[in-house]
Amino acid sequence: MKKLTGSQRTMAWMARQKAKGLCAACNLIAVDGWYCARHKLQNALGCRNRYRTRVGIPLDAPKGTRAKGSHEIQQPKINRNLT
Ligand SMILES: [Zn+2]
Repeated sequence: MKKLTGSQRTMAWMARQKAKGLCAACNLIAVDGWYCARHKLQNALGCRNRYRTRVGIPLDAPKGTRAKGSHEIQQPKINRNLT
């Protein structure tokens, strides 16, 4: 069998845990596919924080804060006809 790198080994272990019906971060019973109730919440917050960092929303903004649409962001005006 091919030797796995560190993160590949972790993902393989998480997949085995999921197949057994256990949480992918601890050994409790999974409630919704991958994670137990505690780690499901932790994962959701992590996903939210990663999204907020990417689109520029402060992490402590209230629940449901949305990113500005592309029409509201001032794009720099570039004349694309000039080469
Ligand atoms: Zn867990």
